[in-house]
Amino acid sequence: MIRSDIQNFITTIPTNVTIVAATKYVDSNDMRRLAASGITNFGENRVDSFLKKYEELSDLKDIKWHFIGHLQRNKAKQIINKIDCLHSLDSLDLAKIIEKNRSTPLDTFVEVSINLEENKNGVPYYEVKEFVKKLLAYKNINLVGFMMMAVKSSVNTNEQFHKLKVLKEEIENELNIKLPYLSMGMSDDYLFAIKEGATHIRLGRILFK
Ligand SMILES: *Cc1c(COP(=O)(O)O)cnc(C)c1O
Repeated sequence: MIRSDIQNFITTIPTNVTIVAATKYVDSNDMRRLAASGITNFGENRVDSFLKKYEELSDLKDIKWHFIGHLQRNKAKQIINKIDCLHSLDSLDLAKIIEKNRSTPLDTFVEVSINLEENKNGVPYYEVKEFVKKLLAYKNINLVGFMMMAVKSSVNTNEQFHKLKVLKEEIENELNIKLPYLSMGMSDDYLFAIKEGATHIRLGRILFK
């Protein structure tokens, strides 16, 4: 169920921040209601549920499909020409599959692991620059920025987001490129993320109370 005050909730988010609804909690009927309320960026975590909902909602216009979960290499082909944006590029092997199978450049975030002990997903932050350098040669990957998941740790959430923001600025300067977006912040921490420059927040539970 979508929270009843969804319209009001949307007005609390700055208009330059994109709400990507993490739709793993709901079915396509609820997603129709979300779209009607003005949230048209959907983020799915799993290939099978993405394919099902993509089919069920094929009549909806102006939807943007984001893939926000870990994308297994052996399943990537099934979705790679259906999604509008990938938030979770984390290996060169996956990049190669995208390069080979995607027909137009795909807006792509590199998922970064800022907290190496607590979060095994993503490229370790100290390897990101080298990773990005290699990606620049991939014509079907349009690198738009970095994505992260904050974790419960001794380091404040704010500091974790800040670290990614600083990393983005360093890499932009050192490689002389522009990375317009940061995908960070979920239901519990999106306000901190916005303060640190998030352009995309991925919200699940808070939309579906
Ligand atoms: C589920 C999920 C979210 C949203 O989490 P909430 O805490 O429910 O807001 C964001 N990003 C990813 C990758 C997710 O899997």
